[in-house]
Amino acid sequence: MAVELKNVTKVYGNGSVKTVALDDVSLSVTQGEAVVLMGPSGSGKTTLLNIIATLDRPTSGEVYVLGVDVAKMPERKLERFRLRNIGYLFQSYNLVPYLTAEQNVALPLVTLGVKKELALLKARLLLELVGLEKAAALYPHQMSGGMQQRVAVARALAANPPILILDEPTSNVDPDNASQVLGLIYVVNKLFKSTVFIATHDPEVARIATRLVYIRGGKLYETVEPPRRELKV
Ligand code: ADP
Ligand code: ADP
Repeated sequence: MAVELKNVTKVYGNGSVKTVALDDVSLSVTQGEAVVLMGPSGSGKTTLLNIIATLDRPTSGEVYVLGVDVAKMPERKLERFRLRNIGYLFQSYNLVPYLTAEQNVALPLVTLGVKKELALLKARLLLELVGLEKAAALYPHQMSGGMQQRVAVARALAANPPILILDEPTSNVDPDNASQVLGLIYVVNKLFKSTVFIATHDPEVARIATRLVYIRGGKLYETVEPPRRELKV
């Protein structure tokens, strides 16, 4: 099993103001699935992604990622585990402001010990795949929001992570770039068998889902498996 959540509850806050962001969520996802998570704002999507990404811990319940009980892993080991196994596209992109696009994309590889020249070569290939070959030397502040988002997608893919987590990957990009990004995610999922989790409001994204999960008030509602429509890439 790629990811397994057992009775996961996440409560934010303490004292009188408490928010139950996830309410007794269980989910088993096998390697190679593409789970598309849809639900209104504030329903718990980002919280769920953060917990799967091991960036946040549940208040109660168990989380297994690639068979590992992540609650039992010390933070220092967890950092490397994350770097090696999990690609994350944050809603806010989180690019490093003083690094160029190609340096940002190369960063996870360099951190894992890949030689800088090789890491930059791969970064440029990935930037080409998201249509940004001409932006390799630009800094984040020199790029539009949509360009930064595609750089962040390229960075999430850089280390060929078995698990890919994408928070609203197609918001903020125009329809052409959105289908380019979606096509890339589809290829990574199909060809490299990465397990993909995508939170989205974009119904187009459901086209690449092997599983469509609705979330509302921190509870999951799974539909029958959606027909996976072939995408032209
Ligand atoms: P989304 O677009 O997913 O709805 P939000 O705007 O709700 O995102 O949240 C953005 C960030 O702010 C998230 O990282 C979330 O953890 C944090 N956040 C959301 N609501 C609160 C809150 N009530 N108190 C503190 N942090 C919050
Ligand atoms: P979504 O991604 O679907 O918009 P979130 O997971 O960001 O939902 O948020 C789920 C609920 O938890 C919301 O009510 C939000 O305000 C709350 N929340 C999220 N992060 C925090 C936080 N760090 N502190 C307090 N409340 C939070």
